[in-house]
Amino acid sequence: MRYVSTRGTAPILGFEDALLTGLARDGGLYVPQSVPHMDAHEIAALAGLPYEEVAFQVIRPFIGDDFSEDELRGAISRAYSVFAHPARAPLVQVAPQHFVLELFHGPTLAFKDFAMQLIGQLFQIAMKKRGERVTIVGATSGDTGSAAIEAFRGLDNVDIFILYPHGRVSEVQRRQMTTPPEANVHAVAVDGHFDDCQALVKDMFNDFDFRDSVGLSAVNSINWGRVLAQVVYYFTAATALGAPHREVAFTVPTGNFGDIFAGDIARRMGLPIRELVIATNRNDILHRAMTTGSYSVEGVAPTMSPSMDIQVSSNFERALYLASGGDGEVVKGLMEDLKGQGSFSIPQGIMEGLQERYASGRCSEEETLETIARLHATTGMTLCPHSAVGARVAEDHVSDVPMVTLATAHPAKFPDAVEEATQERPPLPHRMADLYDRPERVERCAGDLQAIETLIKERRAA
Ligand SMILES: *Cc1c(COP(=O)(O)O)cnc(C)c1O
Repeated sequence: MRYVSTRGTAPILGFEDALLTGLARDGGLYVPQSVPHMDAHEIAALAGLPYEEVAFQVIRPFIGDDFSEDELRGAISRAYSVFAHPARAPLVQVAPQHFVLELFHGPTLAFKDFAMQLIGQLFQIAMKKRGERVTIVGATSGDTGSAAIEAFRGLDNVDIFILYPHGRVSEVQRRQMTTPPEANVHAVAVDGHFDDCQALVKDMFNDFDFRDSVGLSAVNSINWGRVLAQVVYYFTAATALGAPHREVAFTVPTGNFGDIFAGDIARRMGLPIRELVIATNRNDILHRAMTTGSYSVEGVAPTMSPSMDIQVSSNFERALYLASGGDGEVVKGLMEDLKGQGSFSIPQGIMEGLQERYASGRCSEEETLETIARLHATTGMTLCPHSAVGARVAEDHVSDVPMVTLATAHPAKFPDAVEEATQERPPLPHRMADLYDRPERVERCAGDLQAIETLIKERRAA
């Protein structure tokens, strides 16, 4: 399996190199040159299998020979053994054609554990084989960073630095990043917004001297391995609801577009997904882009669903690339417009391709609270604010096929919003009940490339 950059000029890589590299050297994102196909018979055979077995069958064709079958099976099994639910991604019904896919039973209580846990294991295997050391750098609006730290803490040959916007992540998210005691873990509080943190990471990758001198690698949502791991639960959910014999729809609370893009990959593999609905909070750049054809950055407004408070949605570039029929030149131009003027207009042909594959909707803060309260009262289920944004938008798209809303975080990660909606404070699961008592360790840093690079050089193990 070969991977190409969305901007067309970076070297073509195999899976392992694409995984370790993260961002391509031309500033683009790696995508598979072609998407492997599963026929209806193969998809039907996945129904009811253990999550790990479905993961193996879905992921295997994307990997080529870079990892042996035993290595891949071992990595998958170690990645998900730490989940607190035997189904890993259980499905719960909330209305006649509406289901919620619970993706929050991993160690940090958010769906990002599905990808991070696996990537951690794959990095470990790759680094051991190569006898090399990497520095992983990531920007987070909260959940990516805690999931990455959880996945990489204590691993050999890896230093991990996570940049988060100071004062703009929830207390649970912050503590999950600042309390692991392992020396290879570095939480960095940056003065700025999430988009500033993300821009710093991109700039570090474009500083090739720095990049090579510390062996820089990324595991945030631009990493292809992230997307790939997330393809799996679309298969487990859809086959549980009757695919491939019946179509299924999904609504995905969306920020960086990684999770929903994984759904499109599942569909390109042959899974009969009728509709993929982008759900945004009031930071609705994706919804505006899908309805007006203009992708235009406005200020970020903080909401109760902070992991979706972004204006530059990195994986959208992958969707643009596929919708352009693989035209790296065009994508490069759009991204230059974005960098230069904060906006680009989506060419007609690409727009049609996107609208064919994605629907969209947005949900206000009031609607988010109302949805948490209503589903709590009518079903007993407590949703986190991100999942509630999804559920609310999904309700407008329920049709004659099952609609699955992805529940992306555990309600206890966002206790204030949930309490405001339900008048009940959601308790942390037992296994992390002492989170508030563990000592914190954090580096504070200006939102400045030079300062961050110096900090990383000083703190990483040589
Ligand atoms: C990261 C995150 C999202 C957004 O996912 P993307 O893949 O960035 O679109 C939504 N909800 C929660 C809880 C998250 O952590």
